[in-house]
Amino acid sequence: MTIKPLIILPDPLLREVSKPVERIDDATRRFARDMLDTMYDAPGIGLAAIQVGEPLRMLVIDLAKEGEEPAPRIVINPQVLSRSDDSSVYEEGCLSIPDYYAEVERPATVRVKYLDEHGKEHEIEADGLLATCLQHEIDHLDGVLFIDYISKLKRDMVLRKFKKLAKDRAPSRMVG
Ligand code: ZN
Repeated sequence: MTIKPLIILPDPLLREVSKPVERIDDATRRFARDMLDTMYDAPGIGLAAIQVGEPLRMLVIDLAKEGEEPAPRIVINPQVLSRSDDSSVYEEGCLSIPDYYAEVERPATVRVKYLDEHGKEHEIEADGLLATCLQHEIDHLDGVLFIDYISKLKRDMVLRKFKKLAKDRAPSRMVG
């Protein structure tokens, strides 16, 4: 079990556009397992590769509730084929923006094509929480964060807070 350190706002890596996974092999599957371990440990319901520092178009999701059987889904090179006109609103959070939540409006249903960890192609129509989670994670692959959908005023407040936290985390200068 490998838990990888999470990339936290305002790390510029979070704004990078991830590259497609060229080959799906044992290393890919190992990495996906590490991503799942990291997500379960956090805990979270979704994680994109860039959030552990790998700019690859890959994400993991598990929407199983506490006490339910785990239902991990590994999503590689996802493509959104279509989005519904009707939207839904969920309160979202992000492992890279800890302890901040905001309501985000997104298309209620999306059709997504992706490869699983064995290279098999899937096409799903997702709604409800899965639709929101997929869109949130796919956004990460394009350097987009859920705070990009809230008002600029609120976003600036969040950014200021996390910049200050990052500064406080940085090692202080040795004196003496
Ligand atoms: Zn996120």
